[in-house]
Amino acid sequence: MLNFSFENPTKIHFGEQQIKEIQNEIPKNAKVLVTYGGGSIKKNGVYDQVKAALSEHTWFEFAGIEPNPSYQTCMKAVELVKEQQIDYILAVGGGSVVDGSKFIAAAAEFTGEPWDILAKGAEVKSAVALGVVLTLPATGSESNTFSVVSNLETQDKLPFASEFVRPRFAVLDPAVTFSLPERQVTNGIVDAFVHTMEQYLTYDVGAKLQDRFAEGILMTLIEEGPKAFSEPDNYQVRANIMWSATMALNGLIGAGVPQDWATHMIGHEMTAVYGLDHAQTLAIVLPRMMAEQKDTKRGKLLQYAERVLGLDISDEDAAIDNAIAATEAFFHSVKMPTRLSDYKLNESVADKLVAQLERHGMTALGEREQVTLEKSRAILLASV
Ligand code: NAP
Ligand code: FE
Repeated sequence: MLNFSFENPTKIHFGEQQIKEIQNEIPKNAKVLVTYGGGSIKKNGVYDQVKAALSEHTWFEFAGIEPNPSYQTCMKAVELVKEQQIDYILAVGGGSVVDGSKFIAAAAEFTGEPWDILAKGAEVKSAVALGVVLTLPATGSESNTFSVVSNLETQDKLPFASEFVRPRFAVLDPAVTFSLPERQVTNGIVDAFVHTMEQYLTYDVGAKLQDRFAEGILMTLIEEGPKAFSEPDNYQVRANIMWSATMALNGLIGAGVPQDWATHMIGHEMTAVYGLDHAQTLAIVLPRMMAEQKDTKRGKLLQYAERVLGLDISDEDAAIDNAIAATEAFFHSVKMPTRLSDYKLNESVADKLVAQLERHGMTALGEREQVTLEKSRAILLASV
């Protein structure tokens, strides 16, 4: 096992009717900014629950944080935070609202040009306090330090991380996910699955417990994911998916193990240039990444094949091919396409995306830094 320091102070309130807990979590004298997206929370009752819970608080609102939150939109909220001297941000929505709110929280207290936090990795030294009401289980952003923000003018989609933007608390009520369109249920299951794979499918460092945690999340998503479509009103299915997504990226399974993230980095470029949903890009790249990294990931691929998928691994090469096929079949079982051609894209995207990767310094990706631009190109060509 590798050395690590682990701390996850985000307090989670999980279950039905838990939104009311925000009244106790946010100090009564705080000036609150409620941030949200395109208005789904006004249709499914979440906005009304938040409003009721904040009846004793002074609060403002900022709507319109879009999927793949933009720097441009976030900076408008930063102005409001400064103007109203906001001291608590409550993000109500999916990963995009949470990620956007993290950037707003950091940018509002940043000295200098906030874009540098994303473009140059400028250090975040403080941020406005942040709480979350999560409406889409997928990213894990509700209890982690990461955020991904896009610049519409320059086709950049860039991540940053800071302990200062980790939410102080998060409310996870699985019942609020009943209103999700199927496409977003699909996205959430696939994003959580790939987050787990990015931390599990690397090389063995003898981290037995982290492996078992990761396998538990993968197996839960494989078992429960398809039920979200065949039994869309089943609360327990939603609850299991929601908790899996949080646990997939709250630091626990990634402590003390090597991490990959090459699939995510290539996927971000696809979203930035072609506008595909985040998880749609991951389902295209991951199977080809597994095939490309067959040798470096051999041990873990076999472990995954045997323990997670229950495959016979006596013929190792066949087992790895079958594991990749089964992964793709799982994506299809939750209604996720796995090819560029499903989005009417072809080989011509490779040049553009490789140029983007190069521009962003993504020239040696993965846990062994072996995914060169040439390998990324091969993965993209194989993804058509
Ligand atoms: P999202 O972009 O936050 O939301 C997608 C859509 O779902 C929006 O149109 C939203 O509508 C709608 N929606 C959300 N909750 C709903 C509900 N309960 N009922 C009906 N509609 C609902 O999706 P996401 O997958 O959670 O977030 C994706 C973003 O997170 C990407 O930018 C990705 O790169 C990033 N990400 C972050 C991390 C991290 O660790 N921070 C990890 C992976 C990915 P409204 O706009 O109306 O709310
Ligand atoms: Fe992701």
